[in-house]
Amino acid sequence: MSKPPVPDHGCLEKHIVHYRQMVCGHSVALDERVRRGMMQRVAFSEVVRRYSWIWFDAYGVLNRGTEPVPGAGETLRQLRRAGIPFRLVSNNASHAPEEIRANLAAMGIVLDLDDIVTSGQVVGDHVRELGYDTRPYLWVGAHDSARHYAPNPHVLMVNHPGSTWREDAAEFVLFSGNQEYYGGVQERILLASGRVRSLPLLLVNADLVAPEPSGETHLVAGFTACTASEAGRHPLVGVGKPFRPVFDLAWKRCGYPPLDRVLMVGDALETDILGAAAFGVGTCLTLTGLYGPMEAILEPVCFRMGIQPDYVVGSIAWKA
Ligand SMILES: [Mg+2]
Repeated sequence: MSKPPVPDHGCLEKHIVHYRQMVCGHSVALDERVRRGMMQRVAFSEVVRRYSWIWFDAYGVLNRGTEPVPGAGETLRQLRRAGIPFRLVSNNASHAPEEIRANLAAMGIVLDLDDIVTSGQVVGDHVRELGYDTRPYLWVGAHDSARHYAPNPHVLMVNHPGSTWREDAAEFVLFSGNQEYYGGVQERILLASGRVRSLPLLLVNADLVAPEPSGETHLVAGFTACTASEAGRHPLVGVGKPFRPVFDLAWKRCGYPPLDRVLMVGDALETDILGAAAFGVGTCLTLTGLYGPMEAILEPVCFRMGIQPDYVVGSIAWKA
């Protein structure tokens, strides 16, 4: 099965605008908040001193595949020494927090279990709030992760060995993201089949693209869902970044500090920066991930998207 082509930014822009409209709606205040970052280039060690809590994205910020971003482990040690608490705020719903902690620890990036907030942890409550918790649905994602995150017993597994899923019984589709099937392939097949009619798509991992360990970038579940939604076939319901539910959980897990004392550090404008800015926390784009290759054109890209971080750093290394 061939993978979708490596995307350039142009093919993402329509979907980024779509996310922006979903997050900001018709609110002038939210629009301003997302658009008016100062984009100051500062050393990371300087930025963090201005905040009381740091929220980190993982991929492209702390690590790339199985490799740590140079200096990431040391930065976490420096933050502990300085008494600045932090949380991981991740769209990863393919792995349980225990696995995420173990994978990062193997790279020298040490987190407590309580430090890890994932969009997978939100999905159960969110589905309940929507009144969907007694309805059968399709779980499209890593089947192992359903053990940890599937929010109700009416889950119909897609692509699960031995599972006979019945799409005609489903009332919504939950895209959890799946690192076993790079390229959003199973999501594409499902939607292209037309068998799920116009069911709502719940985006637990809303990433549009993801870097592979090889350094290539590929399209993932959020991209597929946006394409289907923009064609008018499926309403989208956001759970992971840039949507509010995962930020609400992160805020709760920090004890509700003043939002202007929190800094979100991420490598993706369309998830980390857009969502965090709208939520009301400070934003820092790091160039060790998705937008690193666009450093030379970063300002016009941010301006065009209307998503501007407060700070831009080359890396989270303490002395970069
Ligand atoms: Mg990332």
